Amino acid sequence: MIVAILSFIIFAWFLTGYLGMSRNSRLGIVFAMFLSILLSLLVLAETNSFSITMGGWAPWATISFLVGLVFLFQLFIKILKNKSKDHKSNDNEKNDEFSEHELERYSRHIILKEIGGLGQRRIKDSSVLILGVGGLGSPVIQYLAASGVGTIGIIDDDKVSLSNLQRQVIYPTEQLGEQKVFSATEAIYKLNSNVNVRPYNRRLNAEIAEEIFSEYDVIVDGTDNFETRYIANAAATKTNKPLVSGALSQWEGQVSVFAPHQGGPCYACVFPKPPKEGAVLTCAEGGVFSPLPGVIGSFMAVETLKILTQSGSTLLGQMFIYDSLNGETRKIKTDRSINCPVCSD
Ligand SMILES: [Zn+2]
Repeated sequence: MIVAILSFIIFAWFLTGYLGMSRNSRLGIVFAMFLSILLSLLVLAETNSFSITMGGWAPWATISFLVGLVFLFQLFIKILKNKSKDHKSNDNEKNDEFSEHELERYSRHIILKEIGGLGQRRIKDSSVLILGVGGLGSPVIQYLAASGVGTIGIIDDDKVSLSNLQRQVIYPTEQLGEQKVFSATEAIYKLNSNVNVRPYNRRLNAEIAEEIFSEYDVIVDGTDNFETRYIANAAATKTNKPLVSGALSQWEGQVSVFAPHQGGPCYACVFPKPPKEGAVLTCAEGGVFSPLPGVIGSFMAVETLKILTQSGSTLLGQMFIYDSLNGETRKIKTDRSINCPVCSD
């Protein structure tokens, strides 16, 4: 009888296996069989013929206990495996934060060890406000959009004019007369539709500057007038935002990063007062060499992306100057002024 029952259980084990049931379910069935035999024996009197034939409850209790132990052990292993699988899929989700399209699109950035996946994610999660979308703003927009900056804010109240087209390369001729921010928004979306653009069709003023700046990680100043530069500097200093600043005149351009909260100077530390009327010629007054804004604006994009990705060292505390007419570059040190009315305590 015992042999017959054991044979039946072994047969059940292989049959369930043949039917494709999981190892744990099969173990559960076998365990349930042993347990029901054990329970029957416990309920029946010891003098019952079935009990006598089965040899009493003790050996069955031992077998049930051992099978139960194996079953529980297998169950425990399965739970552990599932947990580690969950961990793995969480890790995969992190890696998969970029779509296949993005991984390919930004692959030449991701492959750079100074940027990598982490840096590219920082770019994606970041927001940059560009003041002025003229000659300097054009390349800044192009490279920030192409690099995948998550949110790009652009503020300007100007319209696209015929004399802009010689250097403001994001505007096609057919968009003459359009508001620059809307034309620039179109240019960004054409380059990279993953970017979120916020156009502000207005001139920056002191009343709105701090509120707008507080929504961005980096402020890029490509404006062409000193009044706006000082407003931008005061608001960037107040809101603790790094200010990437570029300026042009005829054949020469300069770039620097201002961030008093990071120990560097602010714009007013270096230029406490605007130059006297007529001392610095605007593009309209003195002209500007077509590719120069492209060079300086690209330098501004470089500094911005280094800040966002926390790679390399920026031009904080230094000013880079490029003389395109003579092909000369130089870098000067810029210091914080203890008497600065904007950033000194
Ligand atoms: Zn200062």
